[in-house]
Amino acid sequence: MNSIVAIVGRPNVGKSTLFNRLVQRREAIVDSVSGVTRDRHYGKSDWNGKEFSVIDTGGYAIGSDDIFEEEIRKQVNLAIEEADLIVFVVDVEEGITPMDAEVAKILRKVKKPIFVTVNKVDNAMRDADAVEFYNLGLGDYHTISSINGSGTGDLLDALAEKMPAPEENDLEKEELPRFAVVGRPNAGKSSFINALIGEDRNIVTNIAGTTRDSIDTKYNRFGFDFNLIDTAGIRKKSKVKEDLEFYSVMRAVRSIEYADVIILVVDATRGFEGQDQNIFWLAEKNRKGVVILINKWDLVEKETNTMRDFEAMVRKQIEPFTDVPIVFTSVLTKQRIFKAIETAVEVFENRKNKIATSKFNDAMLDIVKSYPPPAIKGKYVKIKYCMQLPTQTPQFAFFCNLPQYVRDPYKRFVENKLREIYNFSGVPITIYFRQK
Ligand code: GDP
Ligand code: GDP
Repeated sequence: MNSIVAIVGRPNVGKSTLFNRLVQRREAIVDSVSGVTRDRHYGKSDWNGKEFSVIDTGGYAIGSDDIFEEEIRKQVNLAIEEADLIVFVVDVEEGITPMDAEVAKILRKVKKPIFVTVNKVDNAMRDADAVEFYNLGLGDYHTISSINGSGTGDLLDALAEKMPAPEENDLEKEELPRFAVVGRPNAGKSSFINALIGEDRNIVTNIAGTTRDSIDTKYNRFGFDFNLIDTAGIRKKSKVKEDLEFYSVMRAVRSIEYADVIILVVDATRGFEGQDQNIFWLAEKNRKGVVILINKWDLVEKETNTMRDFEAMVRKQIEPFTDVPIVFTSVLTKQRIFKAIETAVEVFENRKNKIATSKFNDAMLDIVKSYPPPAIKGKYVKIKYCMQLPTQTPQFAFFCNLPQYVRDPYKRFVENKLREIYNFSGVPITIYFRQK
């Protein structure tokens, strides 16, 4: 399972600059299809063969000064709870500030690997100044310059060394769908889970997570076997007030990492908001299946087109990945609970679709030949061959003479055609154009 790295520290030490440096390379690949980078505080990266998530905790801070310190303390505590590795960034220009000392005090009690990272060491002269950070009482430190990149390779080496080796065929070992029920506070997650497993808790077994707490529990309901990933909703309520974007995202990250399909519960009375979008993109970025539940539908006053309009509004918000099932539920009246779980199982199946290469070429080559990418500077792109890659989640390669001339709109066109022919509803897919 991928590790989660949290970047903590007071404002202005360079957390987001470091974050960008850590995820940039990877982001460029992940977002080449949609052409957008949305969440600047959560990203995926890899180093020495280890994939991991990076969270910039400071990115979520809300401004005003008087609550700052308290806010940072809360964020650090949550990072400790949710992340596997903690990068504590300090600033060599400023030296140790009282707030740094405060954060260090919290971190000294923590058992997880902590990487004191002295930033803004742009030149060798500043290296000497970094020595004072031994006084934080957290042992050795790394010196980096997030701006010019020096030292970040060594930091990544050190981080990767503490990450578990990637398990081979992680997902294939586990046959049962793993669902994570996520969403904003109060959307109805716990109620949904209770309605699902409630009275006659059909728990079959408790599967202990590898190195973490037990978070996987197997259920049999409505004729389906599935694992439910423990989330904030069913975990004991945290002491932290979960009203910030940061907290719901942070809490969602781990369960999303573990799941195959994300059941995103949305409160219909509040619409589809920023936090819902963030969680949606977390799922998309992680190439997880998604089902959107528009819950509390019983509370919405309905006219003829209410459902259609609501659905259109949601699809607009999740562009360009709009091929996602949306189910209108009322957990209170148990309306479409079964449908929700059935849909999640379908998405799980869609995500495993494997299309034979010959069939895929038969279906797609005619289309791309009839509608080739527009010529650029008199150069014509000729697509010769295509295939689904042997990856765990659906990814496709189109081989051509000039892949660098294929632009995002064309990739989207191909993706849309592919989705018309094959059922990848709820499943993010990636399309690559490669040199023949
Ligand atoms: P955050 O508030 O901790 O996320 O900090 P930012 O990443 O926004 O950086 C705060 C300021 O420090 C910005 O003006 C950055 O350009 C600057 N900064 C970040 N990293 C470095 C660095 O390695 N060297 C120098 N000289 N400045 C840096
Ligand atoms: P969570 O924070 O996402 O786990 O949300 P809860 O499951 O605790 O639900 C928050 C509140 O919304 C509770 O008072 C629920 O009874 C209520 N609620 C949940 N689902 C529905 C629904 O479909 N309809 C109505 N009317 N209320 C709901």
